[in-house]
Amino acid sequence: MKEASFIEHIRSLSNFDPAVVPVGPGDDMAVVRCGGQDLLVAADQVLDGMHFRLAEHGARAAGRKAMARNLSDVAAMAGEPLAAVATVALPSGFSESDARQMYAGLRELGDAFGCPLVGGDVGSWGAALAISLTILARPGPCGVVLRSGARVGDAICVTGELGAAWQTTRHLTFTPRVAEARILAARYGPRAMIDLSDGLSVDLGHLCDASGVGADVCAPAVPVHPDAWKRPDPLAAALGDGEDYELLFTLPPAEADRLIADGPLDGVPVARIGTIVAGAARTLVLADGRRVELATTGWQHDT
Ligand SMILES: [Mg+2]
Repeated sequence: MKEASFIEHIRSLSNFDPAVVPVGPGDDMAVVRCGGQDLLVAADQVLDGMHFRLAEHGARAAGRKAMARNLSDVAAMAGEPLAAVATVALPSGFSESDARQMYAGLRELGDAFGCPLVGGDVGSWGAALAISLTILARPGPCGVVLRSGARVGDAICVTGELGAAWQTTRHLTFTPRVAEARILAARYGPRAMIDLSDGLSVDLGHLCDASGVGADVCAPAVPVHPDAWKRPDPLAAALGDGEDYELLFTLPPAEADRLIADGPLDGVPVARIGTIVAGAARTLVLADGRRVELATTGWQHDT
């Protein structure tokens, strides 16, 4: 089963009042209006063997990643985390000390980002460890940034360096870009934003689909992580590996000029990698000027 087609099926059947749900399925978080205020909500899970390997990485790393992935979705909306609830399926025979380690992992970033665990459910079963988190957030002072706001002519920028995160432990140790997103929203007015979980080419596709635009990506401008230079095709790794949890965003070209001139965001580098164009094509412009289709080589979780 393709994850994307199932999500599309759910989206086509979803039925809600836009006055109550201003942003429904299809962004990093949904927005629900409650008592005159907007509340952001999303859920994300990590599974042993899929998102981490318990025997190799340990329970604390699994808990940390569950919280980090959810906080990354809050960052993608330029939101402020409020609280989370966790639903955990423990393998039978899971030790109490491992369970405590997993909880310590959940707490590590929760404490750092002001996102307490306020409830949940713990069960035990004869299969692998699964941790599902539901996170609540509120819009930052400048409001939410959606995937759908990109306009033709916008610059496309990305934080950090990309590629080979899964082949190293970076997918377990990354810092969600909540603080950087807040600075971006306050100073530079990003029009559209998404966090990089599936890989630049796939996630840029999501942003373009939501905005009804195309993109030209300049291959030499893509920031390739040093870990990816060890791979046979470093650029393909940066475009397609996924699990980077960096921010991909668009903004007016003059704002991008200012952002790049201002230097790193709180120590995190920012690269300008391309331009939003009319139409639907996503094109990779190579160093020699050749234009090729930006292949969506990221993870499709085809299981
Ligand atoms: Mg996301």
